[in-house]
Amino acid sequence: MKHRRCKTCGVPGQVGRLHRWMTNGTIVNARMTGIRQVFMEADFLPELRERISEGLDFPVSPIFYEAERNSVRVTVEAFLRGPLLRLTARIPIFRRAAVHYFNNLAWATGTASSHTVAYHSGRYGLALMRNPFDLDLMAAVVVGAFEALERKPFRSFWKKEDGAYLLRVEVIKEKPELSGRLEVESEVLKEGDLHLRSCPRCGLPLDLSHLEWREEEGMIIDRRRGMRMINLDGYTPRLVNRELVRELGEEVIPIIIDAKRDYTLKMLKDLGIRSGEDDKARLEALRDMLSLLPLYGWGMASETEYTPGGTLRVWVDNPFDEYLIAGRLAAFYEAAEGKRARVEWRDSGPASITYVLTPSISPA
Ligand SMILES: [Zn+2]
Repeated sequence: MKHRRCKTCGVPGQVGRLHRWMTNGTIVNARMTGIRQVFMEADFLPELRERISEGLDFPVSPIFYEAERNSVRVTVEAFLRGPLLRLTARIPIFRRAAVHYFNNLAWATGTASSHTVAYHSGRYGLALMRNPFDLDLMAAVVVGAFEALERKPFRSFWKKEDGAYLLRVEVIKEKPELSGRLEVESEVLKEGDLHLRSCPRCGLPLDLSHLEWREEEGMIIDRRRGMRMINLDGYTPRLVNRELVRELGEEVIPIIIDAKRDYTLKMLKDLGIRSGEDDKARLEALRDMLSLLPLYGWGMASETEYTPGGTLRVWVDNPFDEYLIAGRLAAFYEAAEGKRARVEWRDSGPASITYVLTPSISPA
């Protein structure tokens, strides 16, 4: 089924009903403005998980799973507060409508194409899925959504079937202990006055038009790169990183930052963004790169100081995750300067971080 989309920018109307792009660099739930959303590359979290697993002898998958499960639970609770859904979520027979709504969320967020096979409220649900962006994280997404709806803990099982997957989620007595350590904490957001160029017809940011929603496949594709994107809760990476640092100590931080830096450098190369010949061109390239942050809900650069050939200072308001932003900025610096960066940062008030990037002295 094809959904209605804006005739000017091509973005499905559903996206504008789910989210609101704010003037402070965040994307929030249209009904609950305290709940954040972000866009990111579909394979970034799986890749980060793999890199950390390789770098350290420690099982990290459960941390990603539990963080995703709890973040989605909180996010879906917000979605279910809509006028109609609030009613349906309370009455068992109408919960079916909410499950149908979850299938809708799956294509709208580009996480999978999902159809309900069976659903028995209070016991289990079974869905046929195509193109889940990651098996482990997708299972966590569905478990979190059901936990929001049923207010009971769930567990999940995958079964491969004819090129697609069956996902079964069922009620269990309790969650693993780890889950309790990975709960979303409320966050203070800073006000801002950033206005992204918007579509004259639907009002969504015009730069979203490079994303193509393929609802049949349950995927969002960045047309410029042919790269799959997803729209996810704005909390999972932060919870994962906080737990990794708690468990493994600060030695894990450079692994996270390097993973994001390498990943972003590849993206910038794909997009053809690279260092300009002169200082003016470098400054412009940098500005282009920083504008990617608010479009995807990662926060906003409220101020920058850049001395080409030297130091870059960026004040980021409402950073989605301090380490991932550090990795991103390191890549931006490297693309503009052609040199590897040393990144340092400190809090500069609530919901704001000052990053300082200088040329790295160690060999790249
Ligand atoms: Zn539009």
